[in-house]
Amino acid sequence: MTISYWSPALETAAPEEIRRLQEDGLRHTLRTALRVPHYRGRFAEAGVDVAAVRTVDDLQAIPFMDKAQLRELQPWGVQAAARADIVRLNATTGTTGLPCNIAFTRQDLDNIGELGARNLTAMGVRRDDIAWQCYGYGLWIGGSSLDRAYEQAGVTAFPAGPGRTSLAIQRLRDLGVTVISCTPTFGLLLIERAREAGIDPAADWRLRIGIFGGETMSRAAMARLSGSMPPGFRPHNTYGTTELGGPFVAGTCEYSREQGTFHVWSDHYLIEIIDPESGKTITEPDVLGELVVTTLRREGSPMVRWRTRDLTSWAPDAFDCPCGRRGHPKISWISGRSDDVLKVRGSLVMPSQVEDVVSAMAGIGAGWQLVVDKDPDGLRATEATVVVEIADDLRETAVPELAGRLRDRLGIRLPVVAVGHRELPRYEGKARRVLTLEEFAAVAPLVDLGAATTPVTT
Ligand SMILES: [Zn+2]
Repeated sequence: MTISYWSPALETAAPEEIRRLQEDGLRHTLRTALRVPHYRGRFAEAGVDVAAVRTVDDLQAIPFMDKAQLRELQPWGVQAAARADIVRLNATTGTTGLPCNIAFTRQDLDNIGELGARNLTAMGVRRDDIAWQCYGYGLWIGGSSLDRAYEQAGVTAFPAGPGRTSLAIQRLRDLGVTVISCTPTFGLLLIERAREAGIDPAADWRLRIGIFGGETMSRAAMARLSGSMPPGFRPHNTYGTTELGGPFVAGTCEYSREQGTFHVWSDHYLIEIIDPESGKTITEPDVLGELVVTTLRREGSPMVRWRTRDLTSWAPDAFDCPCGRRGHPKISWISGRSDDVLKVRGSLVMPSQVEDVVSAMAGIGAGWQLVVDKDPDGLRATEATVVVEIADDLRETAVPELAGRLRDRLGIRLPVVAVGHRELPRYEGKARRVLTLEEFAAVAPLVDLGAATTPVTT
């Protein structure tokens, strides 16, 4: 396996050296944060003497920052740089509430290019690659960040954005495109559209690397996507958010890709994993918790102990990857958001667990939904139905098998409803897999959920 680095000295620096860089970065961030009235107030309220914070361990004294606080600061958000030095504002996708604006200085944008080029190089992308870029543009930071990364790495890129599927499936073939960046959902949609148009992705495309991100993805879903691509195709995963300054907080290397983990770029981001209920730090490997991030180099909108709501865990060999990036610890791919966990008949259900089971089953179409009956008291869900596309002739065996696998994985039975090909919605960006009964009735008016073929008994 060839290992390549974009910034060899920083990527292979020893953990102790990275820690020194982090402590410099932390002091810089806290000094910068003091320019923001919100942070000044919060630090004073918590009785934190910021000047006394010297090491990473001192971070524990500083209060968390969450989405509700960020929303209160809108429309300008956290602004630590002078307006004259801010060259761009991006906004969060606003899947929950109004979008929040995040500011960038020129240096912040340069850092996106640097981290992006590191990610691409670690994934095996080279200057002679041709890339089809389908992350979204507009206010969202995904598309423009990938453009910067490709430019920095010297890759020929088409900023296609999402949509234009009929053009994409032909251009991927005609141009011999070798790299694609998109949400996993959009990747699966392209495969489906290609087949419908008589194009066989495995034979007619030349794709060798996929850069997937922007939504959670199980390893089973990743394997399913790769199985339809040309032989030797390698899926990679990238993680980041607008609040944290872009999509390159973490990315896979050739080893972590197979492990379902990625490296966090630790000279730019200081991470913690906490119990979302108690706020206590988790240090053991493989224990799921919420990712908390402090930015170390951001100038426009620095984030201090930002609660991402994304769930992850430390990899068992977090500081010991064969790729040599030992100072940049590995965490598991994001398995969901703490807000997404459903409580169904007293049991916790994560939509990503359902995705894992559905994706691993042969004969199921690209669309699937989890339809929940919301508890009027607000405790998430009282009932959840899995709706999947299965061909008529397979239903008799596939439906009970799927129900059985879901029960084994979740510990409770969920009713399963089978529908025909293309009866469920398709998504071009982030999929919305969990819908309420009303939302589902609006997008799939012909589907009768009373047709559940699995009796509901726990
Ligand atoms: Zn690695």
